[in-house]
Amino acid sequence: MNSRRDFLQKLAASAIAMPFLSAYDALGNTDFHLSDNQGPVLRVAIMGLGGYASRVAEAMQSCKRAKITGLISGTPAKLQEWGAKYNVPEKNRYNYENFDNIKDNPDIDAVYVITPNALHHDQVIRVAKAGKHAISEKPMALNAKEGQEMVDACASAGVKLLVGYRMHFEPKTLEVIRMRQAGELGKILFFQGQCGFRIGDPSQWRLNKALAGGGSMMDIGIYAINGARYMVGEEPVWVTAQETKTDTIKFKEGVDETIQFQLGFPSGAVASCLSTYNMNYLDRFFLNGEKGFAELQPSTGYGPIKGRTNKGELTQPHETHQTRQMDEMAGIILDGNKPVVPVDGLEGVRDLKIIDAIYAACASGQRQDLNT
Ligand code: NAD
Repeated sequence: MNSRRDFLQKLAASAIAMPFLSAYDALGNTDFHLSDNQGPVLRVAIMGLGGYASRVAEAMQSCKRAKITGLISGTPAKLQEWGAKYNVPEKNRYNYENFDNIKDNPDIDAVYVITPNALHHDQVIRVAKAGKHAISEKPMALNAKEGQEMVDACASAGVKLLVGYRMHFEPKTLEVIRMRQAGELGKILFFQGQCGFRIGDPSQWRLNKALAGGGSMMDIGIYAINGARYMVGEEPVWVTAQETKTDTIKFKEGVDETIQFQLGFPSGAVASCLSTYNMNYLDRFFLNGEKGFAELQPSTGYGPIKGRTNKGELTQPHETHQTRQMDEMAGIILDGNKPVVPVDGLEGVRDLKIIDAIYAACASGQRQDLNT
């Protein structure tokens, strides 16, 4: 790899010689593994150029430690458009048939999989087999068994697997976790997580069991599960759940509209949560302890997150979630940094075990014990 001085000299020379090209193009994309004294840059290929990928890509323009260097899509026009927009050369653009060839591409360190839920499993395993780190969007898979297979595949390939849990880096969320860990809220007794929105277009993949793996629980309810775990700071040992459905045409068999669920924790703390595709204005976390409380509302939207505790308003500044997430993930992958709340594959599997149990509880009406 070139030294930083070589890089800057090349950059200066190329800027004079080729003023119309970005630094990335001007260097022939040979070395972009450097950043301004922040450490090496994680070079990321984005797979699935849809709605959320667009948000991630825009946010990544402000990253200090992560950069888009590859694209994977089934639509040639999107590859063309995104390639031009983000300066990704043709040799770093792939489709779903040939992306295994990234194994021979030294410009790509990691692939961020942002496709419909059902595709994450096979795509992450192919990424691992190509020797690249994988970041999977949530839910990482359709069930815990699939999630564990992804964890195992990445472990045996010697690559890291992270899940796109952006809230794990959100400053107000982290402040509540700090307060809880410092004992400022006292013994934790109760958590409430309400996550939902009213879903539109009935033909979208989110309402297709084969692609989504379920309904609101897979998509938005997972935030309440994940939030219950990082807010209470324990792994639940039992779950009960009840499903209600008002529209059986839109929400077909296996696609949940609304689920209420309860979690029990080893300390005796309990959580009461709601996941729905049928109600707007539902994005709220409430944590109650013997000495205080914390409330976040909105709690998991794109922000700014707002919150208060028994001590007053939370004032930590907002930063675009995906910018911070990708910079932090670069540190995790390249430097071995340990985040306050894990974002690795096992964290995703833990959520999926709870989702499996919630669906089992809805089907049986029985409380499910969790072996965590
Ligand atoms: P989307 O429909 O906007 O985009 C999905 C992309 O996958 C599209 O570009 C589509 O062309 C592509 N695709 C590839 N194969 C496909 C197939 N067989 N069927 C349908 N589409 C296919 O969806 P999205 O909102 O971008 O969601 C993608 C993933 O990101 C989901 O797993 C979702 O849960 C996750 N997501 C996460 C967040 C977050 O805040 N972390 C937010 C939104 C979505």
